[in-house]
Amino acid sequence: MISDLLNKSKMSISFEVSPPKTEDEFKAVFAKLDSMAKLNPDFISCTYGAGGSKAGKTAEIASYIQHQLRIDAIAHMTCVGFKSADLKENCELLEKEGIKYVMALRGDRPMAMTDEQYNGREFFYASDMVRYLKANTNLQIAGACYPEKHYEAESFDNDIMHLKEKVDAGVSFLITQLFFDNDIFYRFNERTAKAGITVPICAGIMPITSAKQIGTSVNLSGSSVPKKLADIIANYGDNPEDMRKAGIDYAVSQILDLKEHGADGIHIYTMNRPKTTAEIVEQI
Ligand code: FAD
Repeated sequence: MISDLLNKSKMSISFEVSPPKTEDEFKAVFAKLDSMAKLNPDFISCTYGAGGSKAGKTAEIASYIQHQLRIDAIAHMTCVGFKSADLKENCELLEKEGIKYVMALRGDRPMAMTDEQYNGREFFYASDMVRYLKANTNLQIAGACYPEKHYEAESFDNDIMHLKEKVDAGVSFLITQLFFDNDIFYRFNERTAKAGITVPICAGIMPITSAKQIGTSVNLSGSSVPKKLADIIANYGDNPEDMRKAGIDYAVSQILDLKEHGADGIHIYTMNRPKTTAEIVEQI
């Protein structure tokens, strides 16, 4: 449960899922969630906006997680996707569905958005949305953070300063961008602690099970690929089964090391894959 994470009473294990693009895939996602629920995660978060998904789909999935699976759900929302009127409506819907947690994000600029639309958004930064949510809802709020610095930030110090502002505005816990080098995360924890950020921080882990993932999700995240992982991809990239196994082993060893170092939580970017997720959870 998220309360365990907030009390830092044990290391939480949680998953991220995304609303699929097509109707058929959307119908199939509920069976995948059923499988993931068997792994007893502390919470499952559902993204918003990725691949053009709409708030209704995020709310529907979050509601299923909360009610059918009885697992704490987090519904993501972005400043790019919401004006205050839509946000109010969405939050009312979520609260009516018994969802207690949301993730407030700025979002990235969609290709179809003009400069005017993007720069004219009502909530400019995630912290603006956090302030709105604190003033107008009873929802508890998670925020995103970046162990390798957000790509737009002028400097790491600036990024951490804005992260502290976001936490002070009312964020109860943070989830990191995916990373593949735990030392980067440990250094980030030192920086955040020095800045006075004391909320729990969940480490975002994405298993790399195919070479093409590096060209998609990983490039988009801006996360660096250490030599050890690059070698795995070079050695096994052409052999899907070996690559999958080596990628899972890499994620497991990352998680075991994080556990040993007392991480507050592990958030697995599941890519909606229950089998891979199960293979990881069984080994940790
Ligand atoms: P912010 O916290 O607003 O920060 C964005 C940038 O602005 C940073 O460089 C920060 O340093 C700077 N900044 C902040 N405040 C100020 C200020 N007052 N003045 C000047 N600069 C400032 N995207 C989606 O579209 N949907 C999702 O569901 C989604 N889920 C995510 C989940 C996680 C765990 C993570 C790590 C990211 C997710 N994203 C998602 C991607 C996210 O929307 C992007 O990374 C986006 O570029 C930044 O969002 P943010 O909420 O971190 O932004």
